[in-house]
Amino acid sequence: MFLSGLKTFEQPKPHLEQYSTDGEVAAGFLWDAHMRGDIEGKTVVDFGSGTGILGIGALALGASHVTFIELDSHVFPALMENLAALEKEMDTRISHYEIIEGNVLEHSFEADVVLQNPPFGARDAHADIAFLAKALSCAPVVYTMHKASTIGYLRQWLAERKARIASESTVSFPLKNTLAEHTRKIHRIDVILLRILS
Ligand code: SAH
Repeated sequence: MFLSGLKTFEQPKPHLEQYSTDGEVAAGFLWDAHMRGDIEGKTVVDFGSGTGILGIGALALGASHVTFIELDSHVFPALMENLAALEKEMDTRISHYEIIEGNVLEHSFEADVVLQNPPFGARDAHADIAFLAKALSCAPVVYTMHKASTIGYLRQWLAERKARIASESTVSFPLKNTLAEHTRKIHRIDVILLRILS
């Protein structure tokens, strides 16, 4: 419920494929990671953090440090508001995080876990794969979301890199009517949630 109440993109930019992860999807994704021992006490990077739902969820579940990296600084006021909401919810000051304005593809990290809901590649084909390649070079465990229709390609791509899918599930992902070209109010697509070991 807390995640569902967070701020999302006010004026989403279609070219950056800014769609927030639905609160319930994010909660399931993070809870699964938590149950597998991948959040508590771990250093986490939230790739393409947007308004921060994944990294904030990780902080709520006990991550030792979260780095948010996002290209579009216009989303930072909402991210800061969401962090303030977490402090209020948890009734404590939270300072074990860092916010970086930058391109995921141009930074390197050494973390325990990367969490990402990358651009699905509607604009730039395989934008998600570029994120994934970078994520796998930064952490031994990557939690990532992709359009379910791309799973065949993903499997082959991962096999070539000797990366292993350790768990997977499919969710019906609500894309709210935030991007101009969407005509229906809520459009759903099947999205596959993966835990990948690099
Ligand atoms: N993680 C958020 C947002 C997902 S949308 C959530 O789950 O709700 C994808 C985000 O990636 C957008 O905020 C977009 O601005 C950002 N993004 C796209 N390309 C990027 C890049 N190369 N480097 C950093 N951020 C990028």
